[in-house]
Amino acid sequence: MLTDILVFLSGLCAGSFLNVCIDRIPLEKPIFSSPPTCTNCGSRVQVRDRIPVLGYIMLKGKCRNCKTKISIQYPLVELLTGLLWLLVYRRYGAAAETIALIFLFSILTAAAFIDLKYMIIPDSLVLAGLAGGIPVFLYHVFYKSFSLYFSASWYAPLIGMVSASGILLMVAFIGFLIYKDDGAMGMGDVKLFLPIGLFLGWRLSMMTLFIAVMLAGIVSAILLIFRVLNRKSAIPFGPFIVMAAFITGFFGPFLLGIL
Ligand SMILES: [Zn+2]
Repeated sequence: MLTDILVFLSGLCAGSFLNVCIDRIPLEKPIFSSPPTCTNCGSRVQVRDRIPVLGYIMLKGKCRNCKTKISIQYPLVELLTGLLWLLVYRRYGAAAETIALIFLFSILTAAAFIDLKYMIIPDSLVLAGLAGGIPVFLYHVFYKSFSLYFSASWYAPLIGMVSASGILLMVAFIGFLIYKDDGAMGMGDVKLFLPIGLFLGWRLSMMTLFIAVMLAGIVSAILLIFRVLNRKSAIPFGPFIVMAAFITGFFGPFLLGIL
């Protein structure tokens, strides 16, 4: 119980850091250089207001200085990250899988929110994800026991890296040949599957791709029916990939076990 609380609180704090990443990475501002500031008036966010979720509630969602509404993104990302950390810990316990998934899911959370806001997947996030995957790869090579790969072969994570991203790359290439336009299936989605594949192996990344396509299809259909979108609107695919990766991270091994 105490560990659960500690894991959840650590997740909240990590979420607070992810908010800084979401704000700064797309604008190419350094992440660590300065303390967080109000995106409207630029005043420094005081330490007491930086307490995850509680800070937002105590400020009633408004900047202490200029009273501008603070985006719901901040408490949302913090809560989501806290919850993801807790759920992963409850699912896998004190294991290498927990550390790996906590890292991957945090990177993916930042990627999803950046994609929603800016329709891009920053290379720096993909690279950070890949860098975090190196210890997982080495762990697998030495102990041959990283359960998410469903394989003892040392190259399992490498196949994971090129599986779903390879398929998306082909789709992007065919789209380019047909439409002479590389906008339809962004290269960002191809790149996003590199760290996902490295952490989840090829079976779970293919499952992630499948679930992401289904989710995107269902949600787009609903948004079209309710005329939130028209046929020309573009919605980013990244957040669906991320949601799908969360689902496979939690339920994938179970689903593969019974299929
Ligand atoms: Zn302000």
